[in-house]
Amino acid sequence: MIKGKMLYEGKAKQVFATDDPTLLIQRFKDDATAFDGTKKSTIAGKGVVNNRIASHMFDLLEKRGVPTHFVEQLDDREMLIRALEMVKVEVIMRNVAAGSICRRYGTEEGLVFDEPILELYFKSDPHHDPLMNTEHIIQFQLCTAETLAEMSGMARKINTIMREFFHSIGINLVDFKLEFGLAGDRVLLGDEISPDTCRFWDLKTGEKLDKDRFRFDLGKVDEAYQEMLARVTSA
Ligand code: UDP
Repeated sequence: MIKGKMLYEGKAKQVFATDDPTLLIQRFKDDATAFDGTKKSTIAGKGVVNNRIASHMFDLLEKRGVPTHFVEQLDDREMLIRALEMVKVEVIMRNVAAGSICRRYGTEEGLVFDEPILELYFKSDPHHDPLMNTEHIIQFQLCTAETLAEMSGMARKINTIMREFFHSIGINLVDFKLEFGLAGDRVLLGDEISPDTCRFWDLKTGEKLDKDRFRFDLGKVDEAYQEMLARVTSA
């Protein structure tokens, strides 16, 4: 596998071409941003932690029948992935109220929902990723109704699998964000699953072990990422 040129650089990751047009390399950086990119810093070792946690989670999901873009972890910061045509929709699953749902609706942080809430957002930095419904997505042709139904079904299944997994390592899975893409006519889970994209609360103490430590200057940021890696890889 020959690493080619960088095709894309985002806030937390870079994507490189390979000599196989169906495969890409995803590289995880230590850079962290929050609040629509207005808060910027680095978290020591974050890229390594996120690569390892995401590799572990994709592997687990694949074993449980969820198709993902993950092929293999290459080294500390890089994973080999299948090239996808990304759907410009972020799917957020919420088990417990936190973050934007509290700001938007005045919901009390920590409220446990009887059923998980699925939300859809337009992935567009210039528009600040606004909340959308299924009709916007279909009419704006971000994907077909069939693809959207498949993404929603996968997101609910992923939530069931991940909730049980994180519970087994003493973590309350509060919420998380997913991105999907098409490889031909197949819908695959893409992007990453990490403390950057999920909220993890310690089951016993309620301590936050995710990017909220960075967002809200709670301290012990890199320690929280390392703690999550230790728990995930101990499972
Ligand atoms: N999230 C993400 N990328 C985004 C927006 C949200 O990974 O662009 C994750 C976030 O880390 C949290 C969940 O999705 O685990 C729900 O985020 P929320 O809508 O509450 O937004 P926030 O309060 O983080 O701005």
